[in-house]
Amino acid sequence: MVSGWRNIPLGRLRGIPVYVSPTWFIVAAVITVGFEPFVARSLRDLGAGAYAVTFAFAVLLYVSVLLHELSHALTARAFGLPVRGITLHFLGGHTEIERDSPTPGRDLLVSAAGPALSLVLGAAAYLAAMPVTAPIPEYLLLVLAAANGIVGFFNLLPALPLDGGHMLRAAVWRISGDEQRGTVVAARAGQVLAGLVLLVPFVVGDGPTTFGIVWAALVAMLLWTGATQALATGRMRARIPRLGARELARRAVPVSADQPVSEALRAARERGASSMVVVDARDRPTGVVNLTALSALPEERRPWVSVASVARTVSDGMTLGVDIAGTELLAAMRSAPVPEYLVLDHDGTVYGVLAAADVDAALSAKGSGTR
Ligand SMILES: [Zn+2]
Repeated sequence: MVSGWRNIPLGRLRGIPVYVSPTWFIVAAVITVGFEPFVARSLRDLGAGAYAVTFAFAVLLYVSVLLHELSHALTARAFGLPVRGITLHFLGGHTEIERDSPTPGRDLLVSAAGPALSLVLGAAAYLAAMPVTAPIPEYLLLVLAAANGIVGFFNLLPALPLDGGHMLRAAVWRISGDEQRGTVVAARAGQVLAGLVLLVPFVVGDGPTTFGIVWAALVAMLLWTGATQALATGRMRARIPRLGARELARRAVPVSADQPVSEALRAARERGASSMVVVDARDRPTGVVNLTALSALPEERRPWVSVASVARTVSDGMTLGVDIAGTELLAAMRSAPVPEYLVLDHDGTVYGVLAAADVDAALSAKGSGTR
């Protein structure tokens, strides 16, 4: 929904790039205007100054969120996990961490670091407010204490995409030894929480307000999207180890470069193959036929076009061993992105052709993902 908006770089903190989403300005405006009546009630005789106080609160709230995210980021980095950056957006922040194969214990600590810091910050703000007698600083410190307390406790709720959800996922993963089960449990909890959040404005306070309903709907939507995404990513991750060049490769027939496309297609059909590899006079593979280019070729042109003109010359990254599988296969494909790869057997002979589209389809296939 908001991903199309360009994030504004704020600079770097301990080497970690920090961005702010343009949606933040909307939320800052909503807080400044929306909370002004509460401030005006608590601190009388402020006049328009009440807006300055609520704006200061909006800024302090986001500084707290930034510190919360920084706590995640620095903990992750201490464990050797690369951190791509922190983004502050509408309703909070997000730390992008590259977690290729973390252990559940590490995941748990990285997730817990954020809420732990928020709770400490909340307690510190509360203690700092005690000796203060000037009304505005005292008010700001107390509101800050409450906000950090809420951020800390809310994020500890055991539901993805919240920190508590990551902790629940890590705990289930640790106990069952099954990462995917952890994801499913924590993501389902996230979907349930999204539903419960929708009810909050109707059961808390003296009846629902428009502001409360809109706010609850936004939070619920964010939770639902995050939980559903986590579920999809988890299913995809669970499929990765089962991807193998051997299983996914299409059978290929050898064809010579000057053979017409129509003839090569007939040879492939006769041998039950769905792919073609161009070989030289000594049967060495020199090219892989691009199936998209082939299917785009009109029927009547096929007898007049040579196979070589719809083939891609074999280069280093395009050749894969028959035993490559899982994350290794995906990494090899990422480093040399082409539509088709040549799969070679142990003795260097052609085993088949691996189409990138077939790997994508196997990754995103519906069903059979949940255990
Ligand atoms: Zn967090």
